[in-house]
Amino acid sequence: MIARVRLDITTGQEFDYAIPAELREWIEIGSRVKVPLGGRQVMGCVMALCDVSPYPNPRSILKVVGQQALVTPEVLTLARWISDYYCCPLEIALKSVLPQAVRKEREGWKYQLRVRALAIDPPSLSLTKRQAEIWQWAQARQDMPLQELLETAHATAETLRKMEAKGAVVISSEIAERDPYAREHLLPTRPLPLNSEQAEALKQILGSMDAARERGAARAAQAPEPATTFLLHGVTGSGKTEVYLQAIAHALEQGGGAIVLVPEIALTPQTVERFKARFCSGTLQTQVAVLHSHLSAGERHDEWHKIRQGRARIAIGARSAIFAPVSPLSLIVVDEEHEQSYKQEEAPRYHARDVAVMRGRLEGTTVVLGSATPSLESYHNVRQAKYRLLEMRARADDKKMPVVRVVDMRQETHVQKGTPMFSRKLAEAMRQRLEKNEQTMLFLNRRGYSSSLQCPKCGYVAGCPHCSVSLTYHRHEQKLCCHCCGYETTVPQVCPTDTCRNPEIRYVGLGTEKVEETLAKMFPRARIRRMDSDSMKRKEDYRTILGDFRAGKIDILIGTQMIAKGLHFPNVTLVGIVYADMSLHIPDFRASERTFQLLTQVSGRAGRGEVEGEVIIQAFTPFHPAIQYARHHDFLGFFEQEIEFRRQLQYPPVGRMALLTLRGRSEEKVQFSAEYIKQELERAWRDETGLIIAGPAPAPLLKKESFFRYQIMLRTRRIARLSKRLQGLLAGLKLPDDVTLAVDIDPVNLV
Ligand code: ADP
Ligand code: ZN
Repeated sequence: MIARVRLDITTGQEFDYAIPAELREWIEIGSRVKVPLGGRQVMGCVMALCDVSPYPNPRSILKVVGQQALVTPEVLTLARWISDYYCCPLEIALKSVLPQAVRKEREGWKYQLRVRALAIDPPSLSLTKRQAEIWQWAQARQDMPLQELLETAHATAETLRKMEAKGAVVISSEIAERDPYAREHLLPTRPLPLNSEQAEALKQILGSMDAARERGAARAAQAPEPATTFLLHGVTGSGKTEVYLQAIAHALEQGGGAIVLVPEIALTPQTVERFKARFCSGTLQTQVAVLHSHLSAGERHDEWHKIRQGRARIAIGARSAIFAPVSPLSLIVVDEEHEQSYKQEEAPRYHARDVAVMRGRLEGTTVVLGSATPSLESYHNVRQAKYRLLEMRARADDKKMPVVRVVDMRQETHVQKGTPMFSRKLAEAMRQRLEKNEQTMLFLNRRGYSSSLQCPKCGYVAGCPHCSVSLTYHRHEQKLCCHCCGYETTVPQVCPTDTCRNPEIRYVGLGTEKVEETLAKMFPRARIRRMDSDSMKRKEDYRTILGDFRAGKIDILIGTQMIAKGLHFPNVTLVGIVYADMSLHIPDFRASERTFQLLTQVSGRAGRGEVEGEVIIQAFTPFHPAIQYARHHDFLGFFEQEIEFRRQLQYPPVGRMALLTLRGRSEEKVQFSAEYIKQELERAWRDETGLIIAGPAPAPLLKKESFFRYQIMLRTRRIARLSKRLQGLLAGLKLPDDVTLAVDIDPVNLV
């Protein structure tokens, strides 16, 4: 028997190895194995099995990891697709489908010694009095960790060994699972009676799941027919989660499982609990495995294997959970499908939502993409009849949508001097909330105190030595920080320009830290807290601050996009957005879409309780469509006008895009290489109709982490074909050693 192996190191080919007789039983397609390569030993994945090899005397496999293939056939197919579509070596794609903790060569389980008392009649066994006592302890618990018994009974290991010799107890080494949620106490929840919109959405989803199951039973080994992909467009608070939960329950009833993707930022204990609590008791009881980057390596290993062994049938996690080995897979949910964080920014540059749709297609699994603000891509796919639309227009609990007001900050500058942080309207609204003991959330998408340090005399701006961005001033820590690469430096007291030395350097621009400080002066008695990645340094911080907010111990919560998503606080009656246009000016064609999404999501935090909510949006461009449509909760209006703009420029989702970024320490070499690639592309693709090649141009952020970057942007209608041709073409090109090329298909970050 021969195994064809793809190694962890990128070689672009597969190697044949003989399977020794003693390993035969353990090796299948998808097994992780250790093999010799030259004088080295490397790890790899079995891609195929065959009887004979065309090569004489292949060397033998040395070792296999685990007792089951780690990459299931379904996930293997998915990895192949990722490699083709995202234009990356299969080795890299394979690497991302298994968590690091599972890829290790040595088994990752933690073992523990456990004691079990044997059913004997103690006096007949010549146990000492002390031993008989310990036996009683052990017997009462039936089976317990040795360590625990030693502590509770004040016994020594030696005593227990003696008891084992007498046949009174058995001591064995067993796997001790690390469960990150073991200490949480869950109150089981029951399905809520659905309102009519939820019921209709669920009916459609279940219909597709049932049809998929029937087809699954009917087909033998044929390829599955595609099941439906739904776009569940439900306003904030429309009760999407309840629909997911009941669809998952149906998956379990079918004997299958489900994968739930949520954005990293929304993968909070609160979110996880909602899923765990529903399935922790009753007839559908199953374990919910959580795949999260905050878990320890050991926990991640155990959670993953829980799924692989079928003990957990629901996997919930961020991006990479889409590769969870749930089998059979009856449902995939992608919550907040519009979120940018689903796109991986390093190779393989996959988009988890799109991989989810592809996995659904390959496995005949129903996919539900949910959002209050769908991406233009997904809504376009609805229009193209690729996805089916489900709509929920009302809030689940009959709460009204909040009233949204837009304040023109240009008017405000005439009344207040300088550039005001708060309009009179927002200031007054906050004062009223404090009086009534209601809560306020304030949103500003920039952390730190000021966005830059400038000298008004000579024009000096403190910039990062490694990136083309200005440094942000953090007052609390008295530091200047680069939000791009993390560089930090001390704050100069005078202008550092030799010839200037002006002591009156200025802080320009606004960050959350400054908002916090200003508020504290305005409302000295208010309890104010800030939530951004500076103030949330430790794992528990997030939980503590949200707990305090929920308990009413905080009056005003200021935050960055950390507070924009999914939080649900009934006593929040006011949401203020300090500068709504801040995200409109980033050099990216999706700036408008992002702003619309952000404003809608943040507004959705208001009025979740008995009192109607109010949202105040402060803006310097109050008539911008992104702001006006968000104000009227009008997604469709926004979509129609934005898609027209994309159509005119052949931008996604109407056209498709690939971004080639060249990167190196020498700007000249990078630019030269970019020109060269552009020429090669033009020459090779003269026949490619409808292809637009733009650039090369410096990336909007030319320098990042000491590397210069130039971009070439390709636009086409046929992206899959382009990827394939690109892979072939780029393989034949030679670049200088210190210039690298990154290919990003369907990029979401152009900066
Ligand atoms: P979304 O994710 O769509 O923003 P959620 O799923 O967070 O909305 O639901 C908002 C609130 O409505 C939650 O508190 C949820 O428990 C409640 N809810 C959902 N469905 C129902 C229902 N059918 N009846 C009553 N309350 C519901
Ligand atoms: Zn930097």
